[in-house]
Amino acid sequence: MEFSSKLLENAVYEMSQLPGIGKRTALRLVLHLLKQSERQTEQLSSALTVLRSTVRFCTNCHNISDTELCEICANPKRDGTLVCVVEDIRDVMAIENTGQYRGKYHVLGGKISPMEGIGPQDLTIASLVNKVKQGEINELIFALSSTMEGDTTNFYIFKQIEGLEVRTSTIARGIAVGDELEYADEVTLGRSILNRVPFEGSLRTN
Ligand SMILES: [Zn+2]
Repeated sequence: MEFSSKLLENAVYEMSQLPGIGKRTALRLVLHLLKQSERQTEQLSSALTVLRSTVRFCTNCHNISDTELCEICANPKRDGTLVCVVEDIRDVMAIENTGQYRGKYHVLGGKISPMEGIGPQDLTIASLVNKVKQGEINELIFALSSTMEGDTTNFYIFKQIEGLEVRTSTIARGIAVGDELEYADEVTLGRSILNRVPFEGSLRTN
């Protein structure tokens, strides 16, 4: 792509670094921003800058939060003995949208993936195992997508907490194998949490 302006080329390059944005789309977006008022572009860039520099993670569940404890963890009506293990904030949002879940979460920050060089130490697994060891949790619900990485991560955590005083379950497989949670419809996802099955049982049938 030949650019008549280095400034334009730089902006298009940076935009094209985002997932799912090719060079052509990047150019379209940048030209769109140029047509808008300067103030609108400033609001966009300042929202991103402020987010990046001040974003925090809940000290309990590791979800993205504006405060030390996120709203879910700080809510006394939520059952802290029931913890749903998810990959990231998109899964928390998907499950919250079902309106069916009154427990808390533990956000891993990803899945174990040797292909992408992500190991257990890159995730918040140690903090989860600690919470279980402290006896704060009665039941862990594994709600990772049932991809190879999701299954590997579930199994790794399961092995870490084996023998400790905690029940483990996994969301019922109304969710098709390989589906990402965020794409499941609310009714299906809500039901699969209510109808969760013991984790060990799910291992045998897989
Ligand atoms: Zn939290």
